[in-house]
Amino acid sequence: MAPSSSPTLRTTSEADEEKYANVKWEELGFALTPTDYMYVAKCRQGESFSQGKILPYGDISISPCSPILNYGQGLFEGLKAYRTEDDRVMIFRPDQNALRMQAGAERLCMTSPSLELFVDAVKQTVLANKKWVPPPGKGTLYIRPLLIGSGDTLGVAPAPENTFLIYASPVGDYHKVSSGLDLKVDHKHHRAHSGGTGGVKSCTNYSPVVKSLFEAKSSGFSDILFLDAATSRNIEELSACNIFIVKGNIVSTPPTSGTILPGVTRKSISELARDIGYQVQERDVSVDELLEAEEVFCTGTAVVVTAVETVTFHDKKVKYRTGEAALSRKLRSMLTNIQMGIVEDKKGWMVEIDRCQGW
Ligand SMILES: *Cc1c(COP(=O)(O)O)cnc(C)c1O
Repeated sequence: MAPSSSPTLRTTSEADEEKYANVKWEELGFALTPTDYMYVAKCRQGESFSQGKILPYGDISISPCSPILNYGQGLFEGLKAYRTEDDRVMIFRPDQNALRMQAGAERLCMTSPSLELFVDAVKQTVLANKKWVPPPGKGTLYIRPLLIGSGDTLGVAPAPENTFLIYASPVGDYHKVSSGLDLKVDHKHHRAHSGGTGGVKSCTNYSPVVKSLFEAKSSGFSDILFLDAATSRNIEELSACNIFIVKGNIVSTPPTSGTILPGVTRKSISELARDIGYQVQERDVSVDELLEAEEVFCTGTAVVVTAVETVTFHDKKVKYRTGEAALSRKLRSMLTNIQMGIVEDKKGWMVEIDRCQGW
């Protein structure tokens, strides 16, 4: 350790000034804090993506006649970068987001970046915005890749050009709740239907849920739980996260058969629950079963793992186990310990941001 009189030793605050952006880390919620840079790559129809550019974060110009503006032809992704105690910056399973974007692009007749290009672009974006990755324990850098139909097409058709863009924002908790979420079952609207786009992160899946979400939030609920469109008997997921129920040693979650978004957190939490001896079942879960569960929780990049405290279905309100005794608490810390580098990542889920091709 250098003596404090050493001329080369800078004070912590000076070093921190270069290392960190000027953000009130304690006050972060889930809202946009713009960072310095974004990544942009474009690709004409019939061609494939090549290396894009890191540009200053800011507005983009787009044709009024673009398929994203007119027909919602677009996909998004969401993942996070974490700063560990020993000051490494890591991202969680970016390959999974790349593959999901590819599946979405296939569904929407778009061209998607290759897995390698996707992961490299995410790394470049994080590296360029490294100062915005919150200090350990204070939050994460949320990374938002977009694939949008650009160029112009007046009629409904595949986009003549696709734009792959990534921006990022430091974030804190998605829900400011102490014990757990208060969910309302939506018995009027559906999020997805068989043969539709519920299984991919298509931009078109989100504006239709805003009405339900806004109404529920105005009456004090945290989020909406959607039922399957075919029978309205089984639970599907929330507006932007997956759901699990727990009874005894069995953890159940609805299957990803096209109407549910295959969450990376869902997949990871299923694996962690199996690791500690729970039986995980992917199968239809009825509302009746939900109401009889001991515990309910949600998973997603933004919400991580969040306990559900109550579910309201028509005029029935059920309360579930939350807090220290809840399985969701244990699974959440198992996951975040891996993400924050507190326990060894034996699964090869974490990718360190060090070098990348275009940087
Ligand atoms: C993004 C999303 C999820 C969660 O996916 P993760 O990969 O875990 O972040 C779940 N449901 C919906 C509808 C989503 O959009």
